Amino acid sequence: MATTAALPFSCSATLQTLTRTLSPRHRLLVHRRRFHRLPSLAAFPSPPDPPRLRRPVSASAAPNGSSSAGEYDYDLFTIGAGSGGVRASRFASTLYGARAAICEMPFATIATDDLGGLGGTCVLRGCVPKKLLVYASKFSHEFEESHGFGWTYETDPKHDWSTLIANKNTELQRLVGIYKNILNNAGVDLIEGRGKVVDPHTVSVDGKLYTAKNILIAVGGRPSMPTIPGIDHVIDSDAALDLPSKPEKIAIVGGGYIALEFAGIFNGLKSDVHVFIRQPKVLRGFDEEVRDFLAEQMSLRGITFHTEQSPQAVTKSSDGLLSLKTNKETIGGFSHVMFATGRKPNTKNLGLEEVGVKMDRNGAIVVDEYSRTSVDSIWAVGDVTDRINLTPVALMEGGAFAKTLFGDEPTKPDYRAVPAAVFSQPPIGQVGLTEEQAIEEYGDVDVFLSNFRPLRATLSGLPDRVLMKVIVSAATNKVVGVHMCGDDAPEIIQGIAIAVKAGLTKQDFDATVGVHPTSAEEFVTMRNATRKIRRSTAAEVESKDEIVTQQ
Ligand code: FAD
Repeated sequence: MATTAALPFSCSATLQTLTRTLSPRHRLLVHRRRFHRLPSLAAFPSPPDPPRLRRPVSASAAPNGSSSAGEYDYDLFTIGAGSGGVRASRFASTLYGARAAICEMPFATIATDDLGGLGGTCVLRGCVPKKLLVYASKFSHEFEESHGFGWTYETDPKHDWSTLIANKNTELQRLVGIYKNILNNAGVDLIEGRGKVVDPHTVSVDGKLYTAKNILIAVGGRPSMPTIPGIDHVIDSDAALDLPSKPEKIAIVGGGYIALEFAGIFNGLKSDVHVFIRQPKVLRGFDEEVRDFLAEQMSLRGITFHTEQSPQAVTKSSDGLLSLKTNKETIGGFSHVMFATGRKPNTKNLGLEEVGVKMDRNGAIVVDEYSRTSVDSIWAVGDVTDRINLTPVALMEGGAFAKTLFGDEPTKPDYRAVPAAVFSQPPIGQVGLTEEQAIEEYGDVDVFLSNFRPLRATLSGLPDRVLMKVIVSAATNKVVGVHMCGDDAPEIIQGIAIAVKAGLTKQDFDATVGVHPTSAEEFVTMRNATRKIRRSTAAEVESKDEIVTQQ
C-alpha cells in the first residue's frame, strides 16, 4: 500500500498540490481589482447558547492538552476557521471538553491579508463555489446531448451570468451563517479579526491578547502568481469565481486541476478558452493515460491547449483587451487572463519566525506526524503544512490533532489511499498509485484498461468516451490504483476508494456483481489484463507467484 512518500501523486504534483507544482515560488502578487465585502459575523444571528458539554478540567486529571483553570484563557486557540481549524476546534471542545477559541477574518468573496471568512477556502473560494459553477456550465453539454434523444428548442437556451453569481453569493452567505452556528453550538468562542502569534502561548487578534496552552495554526493558503510584466491585469481563482461578467475569451495559465476545472467552467458557459501550460501535458503527477485522455476530451469540447509555453508578459491594449506573450507566441483579444499557477501557505506576518516555528522554503509550516511544529505548544494542520492540500485531508488532520492533544490518544493522519477528484469536464476520480508509481513500487504490475463509448453517447452522437483503469500488483493481486475519467467519476471513485483502502484484490473486484447498465460496472468486469509489466527476473516472479499461491 502506498505510503505518504508514494502517494498517487507526490505532494508537489497532485490534484492536492498541482497548484504548487506550477508555482515557481515567485513573489506573491495578487491582483485584487474588486471584491464583495459581505456582512461581518455580527450580522448573522446566533441561536441561543447551547449547554456546554465540557468536562471540568483539573490539572491532575487533565489530558495532555488541557490546562488548569485560570492558567490560560483557553486550552486551545486556533488561528483560521477553514476546514482544518473548524474541525479541530469543534472536536476539541465537543468531544474532549477543551476550552477552545478560534479567530477568523471578516468575510469577503476574494481573500486579502485582512479578509477571509468563516468556512475558509473550500467553502468560500474553492470546492463549493467552484462546483456550483461546474454545475452551471454542464448544462450546455447536456443541451447538445439532448438532441439525439429527441429534444428540440425554438431558440438556443440563454445563460444569465449575473443570476448565477448572485445565487452563488447568497449561498456563500448562508454557509458563513451555518459555520458560525456550528462553532457556537460546539461551544467554541469565535473572535473576528486577524490573528498573530505573539509568544508560544499568546495570540493577538487585531491587538487584543489571548493566552492558550496550545495554539493551532490553520490559516490555509492563497493563490500565487509569477512577477511578470502586466501581472496586475491578471485574475486568480478567487476573482474568477466572482467576476462581474462572463469572459468572452479567456487565457488560463496553468495545467493543474484548478486551471482545468475553470477551463471546463468557462468552456461550458460558452467562453472561448485557451489553456497555456509549461509542460507538454496537463495534470503533472497524474496517471499518464489519464492525462492524455482528459486533454483529448477537453479539446474535443472546444478548449485550445498551448503546450510548453511559459508566460512572459501580459499587455492591455486601448480597447481594454489583453494579450498574453509566452516564450513561443503572443495571442491577443482576451477579455480575461487567469493565472492558476500555484498556491502559497498563508504564513506571512503571522509572527511564526519570531517564536521559532520552522517553515520550508515555500513558507509551509514543518510539522511532525502528529502535526506539532518545532515549538512544543504550537501545532498546524491543513494547507498551511502543504502535505496533501485537500479539504477532507485538512479535516482528517484537524480530527487527529484534537484526539492526540485532548483525547489522550496519539493519532497520526493516515495518508494511504486518499481518493481525489478533478471536476474537469469530463471529470476524473482516482485513488492509489498511478501506473508509473505502481511499477516503481512493485515492479510487476498488471494493468486493466477500458476506453469505451458510454451508452449515453450512442444516441447523443457526441464523441464522449470513458477511460477506466485498474492497476494490480502482480505478486499479491492487490488493487493498488484505480483511475477513471468520464461522467460521474468522482462519485464512483468514493466507493472504489473503500475497496482500495481495505486492500482488496482483483479477485474481490471480479467476484463483485455489477450494476447494469452503468459505466461503473466496468470496474468489476475487466477480466483480462491489457498489459503485464514485469520488472523482476524470471526467478523472482516464480518465487512471488509461489507466495501468492500459498496465501
Ligand atoms: P483554509 O480553508 O484556506 O482556511 C484557512 C482560513 O484561515 C481562511 O478562512 C482564512 O481567512 C483564515 N486566515 C488566514 N490567515 C488568518 C489570520 N492571520 N487570522 C485569522 N484567520 C486567518 N479541495 C478538495 O478537497 N476538493 C476540491 O474540489 C477542491 N477544490 C478547490 C478549488 C479551488 C479553486 C481551491 C483554491 C482549492 C480547492 N480545494 C479543494 C482545496 C481546499 O479548498 C483546501 O485544501 C482546504 O480549504 C484547506 O483547508 P484549511 O483549513 O487548511 O485552510
